[in-house]
Amino acid sequence: MSFEQLNKEIKATPEDLGLENSSNDLEPKEADILSGEELTPEEAREIMETSEKEIELLDILEKWTAESIAEMKQRAKHFEIDESIVNEIKDDIKQSLERDFYRIITEEDVEELKKSSLNIASKLAEKKDELDVRSLIEKISQKDIIDLLNRKLTKEISTEEERVLDIFSYVNEGGTLGTYDRRSGKIDISLFNSKNLKEYMGTLMHEFTHKALSEMVPEITKKETSFSIIKRLRQATGEIKGRKDMTDKERTQDLFFQNLIAINESLAYLAGKYYGSEKEPPYNSYLDKTHPGLFKRIYDQINVATDGRSLTDFDHFAARLYSSFANSWKEDMSQEDLKEIVISTMKEINKFKNES
Ligand SMILES: [Zn+2]
Repeated sequence: MSFEQLNKEIKATPEDLGLENSSNDLEPKEADILSGEELTPEEAREIMETSEKEIELLDILEKWTAESIAEMKQRAKHFEIDESIVNEIKDDIKQSLERDFYRIITEEDVEELKKSSLNIASKLAEKKDELDVRSLIEKISQKDIIDLLNRKLTKEISTEEERVLDIFSYVNEGGTLGTYDRRSGKIDISLFNSKNLKEYMGTLMHEFTHKALSEMVPEITKKETSFSIIKRLRQATGEIKGRKDMTDKERTQDLFFQNLIAINESLAYLAGKYYGSEKEPPYNSYLDKTHPGLFKRIYDQINVATDGRSLTDFDHFAARLYSSFANSWKEDMSQEDLKEIVISTMKEINKFKNES
């Protein structure tokens, strides 16, 4: 159905559409076969209005995707990586949006989402100074949810509505805005949060930066992911409780990877600045990946050095800095070696700062 046709049907009265007395002209049996379940005029109207809003939402997201693809192609050039990376991300975006749409496709899905969300809203409502959004969730329909997603992307929404979306996002994706899986190379962005189109772009560009950096040095990325998996397994089994239980070699490698992750994450956060996201990283939530103090030092230093520079300059610098750090990896590096690598990285950051 074309958009014009749909519009026309929405403006039509139920009688115009033959919905008012749909079964009267027919034998009951035949009517059942033809229409399945009989719709009331209100239900028919609701369905049409919902599809209109759905088309609107898809339209917004399609335009946004086209814009983001153009932006990523530009940045892929800065990183001197193959443009095919952008097509992979395009598929990833499509998949994550489809998954989010599937979460509200039937009435049962919506009821399920509302049930889990009410649970969380009740717990929040018990707390002091917390918004109580239970009544808002109770009366929300599929159409309202789609409308809310439309409005949050393009217009202002109320604080209560923001809270509802944050709860939905928590129920659906644990509240994450986006992720980049270093093992599969997949980017996932979530529609169910209170972020608008601009912030959505910031999230995507953060994840794009991770992917671009990681895929520039695939061997080191592989080493780092397997190292961190093994480390976590050994921690889970109690084999290592802290860094003191590691060998000297493991400790040095661990510190190398902590630096690597801190640089990678800092660059992803700083790339977000070019898309209006001024947020400083929540250092402590990366505790299992990198030391918060180390992360903050690296972030601050790169932040000062890149402040006010163009995105092109930033990307070129990011690519250079990250690959030179990653490629200085040596299987049997000593603590002294690592110290030198870190010092030369600091020098590289300072050199960029003084260039401007
Ligand atoms: Zn990140």
